[in-house]
Amino acid sequence: MGSSKFSFSYYITGILILIGTLLGRFVCGFLCPFGWVQDLLNKIPFPKKFSTKKLKWLRYVKYGILIVMVWALPALLQNAVGMGDPYFCKYVCPQGILEGAIPLSLADSSIKAALGTLFTMKFSILATIVLLSIMFYRPFCKWICPLGAFYSLFNRISILQYRVDKDACIKCGKCARTCKMDVDITKNNASLECIRCGECIKACPVHAIDSKLMLINREIAKSEKVAKAKTTAGTKVAAGTKAATNAKTAADTTAKTTAKVVRHK
Ligand code: SF4
Ligand code: SF4
Ligand code: SF4
Repeated sequence: MGSSKFSFSYYITGILILIGTLLGRFVCGFLCPFGWVQDLLNKIPFPKKFSTKKLKWLRYVKYGILIVMVWALPALLQNAVGMGDPYFCKYVCPQGILEGAIPLSLADSSIKAALGTLFTMKFSILATIVLLSIMFYRPFCKWICPLGAFYSLFNRISILQYRVDKDACIKCGKCARTCKMDVDITKNNASLECIRCGECIKACPVHAIDSKLMLINREIAKSEKVAKAKTTAGTKVAAGTKAATNAKTAADTTAKTTAKVVRHK
């Protein structure tokens, strides 16, 4: 699965890079079961739902987890055969508990009997995430998940891109207000936090946002260039028309004056 010399799993990393290059965080928006679970939990009524806009700094935690728990610790702390533990999956990630340990322990009493401190610790993390997911939108995705952090690095270069047509946009701000990931797509169409969920596309009243398979934002650059060119051309045409009008007025005035002088003579 990799090289013990570099403590690195090439197959897994290669597959993740391939998925990221194709889709970016679309995986988080549509393919990941734990993202979907958090979506469902957030629909549960609660006396007060909280915004995460003022907690944006917490989003950097997931990059710390990616570097420390997913890469550095397994690379530095290895067993006798040169293998590092998957620290995040083993000690933090609640997905394994939700999708594996809980159903298995319910189905098999011997597995239930074997559950120990590690299960209790991870179950507590899961319970906390469940409660937070009811109060906040996708707290695990925003603040903790190293896989989301990894995919986010591909949002700018992935083949799947979101595009905002600056010509069509009427700057109503509906897209930013709709986005539960606190992204303003008109300011940054490839934000690290954008999970490509498509909610902004649905919200836009003038259909200025769309998703396309394309190469690194080129069409956006083109669209911006076209808008600029149109503005410049419009200014030039206006200036030309004004100059022509001025010239015509001056010519008319001269002709009238000449005619008056001739009549007087
Ligand atoms: S951030 Fe992690 S948990 Fe959330 S949807 Fe993406 S991969 Fe799944
Ligand atoms: S910017 Fe749009 S696609 Fe991205 S997360 Fe927000 S609503 Fe979803
Ligand atoms: S919703 Fe559409 S028109 Fe309104 S600001 Fe966003 S992109 Fe522009």
